[in-house]
Amino acid sequence: MTGKKEKAKERREKRLQEISLLRTIPYSDHQRWWSEETIAVVTGANRGIGFEIARQLAGHGVTVILTSRDTGVGIEAAKVLQEGGFNVDVHQLDISDSESISNFCEWLKEKYGGTDILVNNAGVNYNVGSDNSVQLARQVIDVNYYGTKNMIKAMIPLMRPSAAGARIVNVSSRLGKVNGRRNRISDATLREELSNLDTLSEEVIDRTMSTFLQQVEDDTWQSGGWPQSFTDYSLSKLAVNAYTRSMAKELSDRPEGEKIFINCYCPGWVKTAMTGWAGNISVEDAADTGVFLALLHEAVTGKFFAERREVNF
Ligand code: NDP
Repeated sequence: MTGKKEKAKERREKRLQEISLLRTIPYSDHQRWWSEETIAVVTGANRGIGFEIARQLAGHGVTVILTSRDTGVGIEAAKVLQEGGFNVDVHQLDISDSESISNFCEWLKEKYGGTDILVNNAGVNYNVGSDNSVQLARQVIDVNYYGTKNMIKAMIPLMRPSAAGARIVNVSSRLGKVNGRRNRISDATLREELSNLDTLSEEVIDRTMSTFLQQVEDDTWQSGGWPQSFTDYSLSKLAVNAYTRSMAKELSDRPEGEKIFINCYCPGWVKTAMTGWAGNISVEDAADTGVFLALLHEAVTGKFFAERREVNF
């Protein structure tokens, strides 16, 4: 390992130790804006990071709605938490299926009147190791970006008004950094359009996704100047990051008492099915920043976090 890599590894390990310690410090009364009446919806919560986010949120005393695209698997996962004494309910939800989203929203409205927290965790990636197939690009972008976006749109009217404000947390990735040093879009004009809040819009993000998918279909994507690693996945997360900022701007003029804060974060490279358990971060550490953002008592919105710290988009 080179000196630089070793130093980065040391820094990460030190930060993870700090975070493990922070997790043991209870929230003080003035920070605790939530109670067991507070509802948190977590998508893709039957396993991996989503399950752990559900577990940690329930551990903080929030009522968690564990959602899963497979009903039976969701019920089994919820049982594990319920048997641990947590307040956990469960419902089917496939974020790439508009009917499933609307059935879920109807149920949520009827049973709970809405939610206070939404964690968009569900996601897919079909590249492992150094592979970079785009064979399933449409599916990756449909689930990771359009599924997340459709959930946000469907859930905004269901975010319950409160003095503390409702929260949306999107589980994203550093691979989707628009201005990262590596793995970025080579077209500087497009990067500027996607990073400047004056020009960034849902239309620009959707257009970028359509251009890429069209090039995949025409088999011309290799020369399109797209991110070089995990191209389809990186672009889907770039879209999630950009949409988080764009939506934060759109939501910013809501009146006091109806505020919605929206942020995204990168959990790191995590030991889950998605990485073939090859990651270097545990699910506990990976869920931490998501839980931190969901429970944050400060009015932070439109930001990208990693390891509880704000990072550049
Ligand atoms: P897993 O593959 O373990 O879990 C993914 C979860 O998403 C599963 O519950 C899966 O359900 C669910 N899911 C997939 N598609 C849908 C859908 N259409 N509707 C509802 N749920 C769906 O991966 P992780 O826990 O690692 O990933 C969680 C999130 O973290 C993802 O958004 C991922 O992109 C992100 N992330 C992960 C990293 C890592 O290193 N692992 C790094 C950076 C980001 P099912 O069981 O039915 O397949």
